[in-house]
Amino acid sequence: MAGKDYYQILGVSRSASEEEIKKAYRRLARKYHPDVNPGNKEMEERFKEISEAYSVISDAEKRRQYDLGGSERFQGFSQGFDPFSAYARSGAGSPGSQGFQGFRFDFGDLGGGGSGLGDIFQEVFSGKSGSGPFRNRNRQGEDLEYSLELGLEEAASGVTTRINLAREASCPACLSSGGQGNKPCPQCGGLGRVNQPENIQVRIPAGVNEGSRIRVPGKGNEGSSGGPPGDLFLLIRMRPHPSFERQGRDLHLEVPISLSEAIFGAKIEVPTVGGSVKMTIPPGTSSGQQFRLRGYGMPDTKKGSRGDQLVRVKIVLPSKLDEKSKELIREFERMNPYDPRKDS
Ligand SMILES: [Zn+2]
Repeated sequence: MAGKDYYQILGVSRSASEEEIKKAYRRLARKYHPDVNPGNKEMEERFKEISEAYSVISDAEKRRQYDLGGSERFQGFSQGFDPFSAYARSGAGSPGSQGFQGFRFDFGDLGGGGSGLGDIFQEVFSGKSGSGPFRNRNRQGEDLEYSLELGLEEAASGVTTRINLAREASCPACLSSGGQGNKPCPQCGGLGRVNQPENIQVRIPAGVNEGSRIRVPGKGNEGSSGGPPGDLFLLIRMRPHPSFERQGRDLHLEVPISLSEAIFGAKIEVPTVGGSVKMTIPPGTSSGQQFRLRGYGMPDTKKGSRGDQLVRVKIVLPSKLDEKSKELIREFERMNPYDPRKDS
């Protein structure tokens, strides 16, 4: 019988580095692990094969021997190889009969040569990696991230809103076993997990900005086998505002004023994120002049203190001037000769 090609099994070249081998194994283990494919014998065999290949190729000494003589030299090893032996020792019965529900990632003493299996299993299956669809004993649910778009006014005052989530949870039909024997559960397709829609109320604190992340504890995916749920993170996206520009806690706004308001001064209504306020334009105001409305900016999410609103005025002339008005302006110029490019 021809020996097994461990390199081919792992899908790496014969000159693959330790890191490449580890990566290949991790990828395959995630795909073929019995926890992901409960009750699938073929996948289980494949997983054993992959683990066997990895336990040899990842060990420098075993790899050297293997390279010299092929897997025949490992007859004894490969025949005796059982990645699930730790399971049997745990006293929970044979893995096949239980769909690996009680599978323990206890590989530390496998393989004798101290290859990295134990370590890598810890890495691959560690509870909070959030990247693998694994069920593990007491595994915490993954965190979820949803984005939430807010208007400036909502961000300024804080808002309570409802959002629809799909949280992964244990399948209520098969109680996360994935099914009976080799008959997969129809509700979850044998995954043991389902996406459960949920509508929850969330409170967004005042002062959030583009990219803020709000943590909602316990509203991520449900844990497995009594493990705690993950958290939900709301990623804030700001809807662009037609007139306000935000710079940190300060808000910038341009407000048009008339020529006579600029000359005589005026009290004008100015919009702020908290509603409009009266602002005084002093007599003799020029276009482009900036006024500060202290405390009318955005609040700080932690301290609650607010930034300022900066109002830049812009003198807007009437679109049409009649002859008499023009004559008055000429008279005004004669009476008030000045060069704004020199005198200002
Ligand atoms: Zn199910």
